[in-house]
Order: sequence, then structure tokens, then C-alpha cells
Amino acid sequence: MGTLYSIGEVLIDFIPLQKGRALKDVVSFERAPGGAPANVAAAIAKLGGRSAVLTKLGEDAFGDFLLEQLEEAGVDTGHVIRTNEANTGLAFVSLREDGERDFSFYRNPSADLLLTEDEVNASLFKSGDILHFCSVDLVDSPMKQAHVKAIQSAKERGALISFDPNVRLPLWDSPDVCRETILDFIPKAHIVKISDEELAFITGIEDEKEAIDLLFSGDVQAVIYTKGAAGASIYVNNKSIDASGFSVDVQDTTGAGDAFIGALLYRLLDTGADQHELKAVLERNALSILTFANAAGAITTTGKGAISSLPSKKQIEDMMNT
Ligand code: ADP
Repeated sequence: MGTLYSIGEVLIDFIPLQKGRALKDVVSFERAPGGAPANVAAAIAKLGGRSAVLTKLGEDAFGDFLLEQLEEAGVDTGHVIRTNEANTGLAFVSLREDGERDFSFYRNPSADLLLTEDEVNASLFKSGDILHFCSVDLVDSPMKQAHVKAIQSAKERGALISFDPNVRLPLWDSPDVCRETILDFIPKAHIVKISDEELAFITGIEDEKEAIDLLFSGDVQAVIYTKGAAGASIYVNNKSIDASGFSVDVQDTTGAGDAFIGALLYRLLDTGADQHELKAVLERNALSILTFANAAGAITTTGKGAISSLPSKKQIEDMMNT
């Protein structure tokens, strides 16, 4: 079975112990490893797959903590670079009454944003592997070039490229720059995962099919469209296959999308599909893969935080059998 390489943002989320308060009024927090690429790598490791993170951490106590947490989750941290140039990224979070989160970031810039193209080992990737990336912070950081190099070398060496734009709209100074960056990176991926809200924002088009059609550019072979509690669809070979979501008692939706795409990519790794087989494999197994991923996403919403509530394979299978 191949390896999932997850490149990009890895940081610590400080999650509030008091809900429904403005960030300035939260008095205590607990630490949780975060950043979508870290969550996806952890999701795959928890399912028994092989995953590694390609990122940079500060030579500080928070970097030590993240490294320990990722190792404990079963993620290969052998490619993580440590630096004195900058601190490990931190994000303080407050949970509003409506369940939405507000963030305050401490990264000026943080070490992960300083990963350079020279620090990406081009010979790492092989056919059967998947490189997964997210767009957060791709604007104006050395990390952007690191992503471009990783994507190019992984593709040349036969690996699949997966992209989750992972838009956190309030965090972008300019929505136009955010949209342009995402539209610039979509054609570089074979698989694009996008939520209903992101699709509307990125394309500005109401009609689902019309908006999804716009994403099929460059190397894109499949679009995975997620709809929260309603489940998800795979668009491939001019078809769409839908699977409804699982009904669960939701505690915290943090990490649902990462658990979902992690589970989907785990199933894909398991097939060993390469760039030529991707479409056929996805179409043939669409319903089973989507149901598996929907269960992973749903289970993650039943616990607090992202990595701590990721499901095992047994939990997913139990949910699928109920
Ligand atoms: P993101 O978290 O990336 O914004 P979604 O909210 O669409 O994306 O969630 C991703 C997936 O997680 C969904 O397709 C679904 O499988 C699962 N999920 C998310 N929210 C819920 C929920 N409230 N109930 C059940 N499943 C959910």
C-alpha cells in the first residue's frame, strides 16, 4: 500500500474550555494538534494506512509537542524539518453560540509557512502514493513554491495529487486573492474535494452541476463534493454518484472534512490506483468509498476536536452496519 504525503500547515489549536464566549473572555484553553494536512495524515494513520507530513516546525516546546502528538497518532514525522528561524504556529479559537469558530493566529510567519522548495525531496514520491495539499496560506509564502515543487515532482513520479481548498473565509484579507489562488491550484490536482459553501464561493455559480463542471480543468479527474450532514457525491467520468450522510449526535464539526477526505484517500491508497486507473477505480467503487468516508466524517463530529475524535476502521464499519 502506498503512502499519503500531506504537505503544508501544521500548528497547535488552543481550543476554549468555555463555549459561547468572545475570544477575549475565554480564560482557559486546551492544546490540540491541528492544521488540515496534519489532520488528514492522522486520519489515515488511525485507519492503519501509511502517512507522512511534509512541513516545518519551530525548534521550540510547541514544535516538540506537535511532533510527539503526530508520532503518537502513527504519522511518519521523518520528513519534518525543525528551524530556529520562526516559532511553531499557534491558533487560539473561540466557539460562538452558533457553533462557528473565531480564530486568532500567532504566526508572523510561523515555521510551517517557511518550508522552501529546496526542502522538498523530489525523489520521495512513487506511483501508488498520494500527495494531499490544502490552500490555506498558499498566498505569498515560501510554502507556495514548496507546494508547486512537491506537486510537480509527485506527479512526474506517478503519484496522485489531491487538493482540498479548505477555505476559511474570514481569515483571508482579500476574498478575490483567495479565489484566484484556489483557481490557480485546482488544475494541478487529480482529485479536488470541495464543500457546498466553498463551491459557491469559488465559482459564484448557484447550480451545482454547472459549478462543478467549471472545476474540471487541467489535470482534474474527479471532484468530491461534500454537503455536511447530507453526505457527499463523487463527480467522475461525466457522472455523479451520491451517498447520504449518517445521522449522529453532533458535538463539534471540527475536522469532519479532514476525516472524510482522509478516509476516502485511505480507500484509494488501498486500491493502489495510479493516474491512469483513478477514474475507473473511483467510478467502480464510488458508493462504497463515499459511504466509508461519510461514516468517518460523521463519527468525527461526535467528539471534541479533530485528531482526538478521528475514527478507527472498526468504528466506521460498525456505523456502516447499523
Ligand atoms: P468541511 O468540514 O470540509 O466543511 P462538510 O461540512 O461538508 O465539509 O463535511 C464533510 C463530511 O463530513 C460530510 O460530507 C459528511 O460525510 C460528514 N459530516 C459533516 N457534518 C456532518 C453532520 N452534521 N452529520 C453527519 N455527517 C457530517
